[in-house]
Amino acid sequence: MSAPQAPIRVTDLRKTYGDRAAVDGIDLQIERGEVFALLGPNGAGKTTTVEILEGFRKRDGGTVSVLGEDPQTAGLAWRNRLGIVLQSTTGLDLITPREALASTAKVYRTPRDVDEVLAAVGLTDKAGDRIGKLSGGQRRRLDVGLGIIGTPELLFLDEPTTGFDPQARRDFWELIGSLADGGTTILLTTHYLDEAEQLADRVGVIAAGRMLAVDTPANLGGRSSSLATVTWEDAVGTRHTEQTSTPTQLVSRLGAELGEVPKLTVTRPSLEDTYLSLIAPHLAAAGSEPELEVVA
Ligand code: ATP
Repeated sequence: MSAPQAPIRVTDLRKTYGDRAAVDGIDLQIERGEVFALLGPNGAGKTTTVEILEGFRKRDGGTVSVLGEDPQTAGLAWRNRLGIVLQSTTGLDLITPREALASTAKVYRTPRDVDEVLAAVGLTDKAGDRIGKLSGGQRRRLDVGLGIIGTPELLFLDEPTTGFDPQARRDFWELIGSLADGGTTILLTTHYLDEAEQLADRVGVIAAGRMLAVDTPANLGGRSSSLATVTWEDAVGTRHTEQTSTPTQLVSRLGAELGEVPKLTVTRPSLEDTYLSLIAPHLAAAGSEPELEVVA
């Protein structure tokens, strides 16, 4: 038997609207069981890329393989192996979460148990309420439930936790971790850097339709090897800041000089710092982009 193919393989992907390149030559490979986060400013090309992979938009160039097939020609059996959570909410106002999940489950060959999904997305208490009466965050949780009810091999999540309260986000992160542990491959887009850091095995940063960097959250943009910033106060209360590649040595020296060092901090660039410095040149070039709604 040959080695299993990566569930997502993309080479030189291109998509143009009019004379504007929304996706301008993206390469991407995502392995089975991997959680991959696509980051990028508004209008960067994330949704366009993801919707091409989902088979909802046609590309203008490049090759795409998703679960071994070209999304442009793949059929229903292929779609059955995907879970998709779009940015928009469900709009099924008159039925209940249990009914929505149960009827969606019927579409799939190997659905999850409806009660298990309700519990996994924290909607057990709301299972019998009309969807129209749910809060925005609760509707979003239902969207996620609808995305996973079919036991997908590959799950697409477009800004999945928008509107979640902090506890719901943490519960969601746990759910995604357990899905990935079970072998589900997950591609998500998010504007939350802490979410990417918590969830993703690797992140890709897109701006102006190009992939600027792909790496683990810890190593993105050389983060792990960048200088540490050490700040402290001396005996008379004067604040000091020093950047160093050897913070442990500096802290030891300060400890020897001052004893307990007042207001000591040691920091390295956060994922957000690194992300912002990667995209900064592209923001300046593009000007400000309006917030976009997805055309499903
Ligand atoms: P956001 O974070 O705001 O969701 P995004 O990274 O998902 O943004 P896309 O929605 O992929 O960005 O948009 C990429 C570019 O393509 C933008 O400049 C956008 O204006 C343009 N675009 C997207 N969809 C269409 C469309 N249907 N028709 C014309 N232009 C479009």
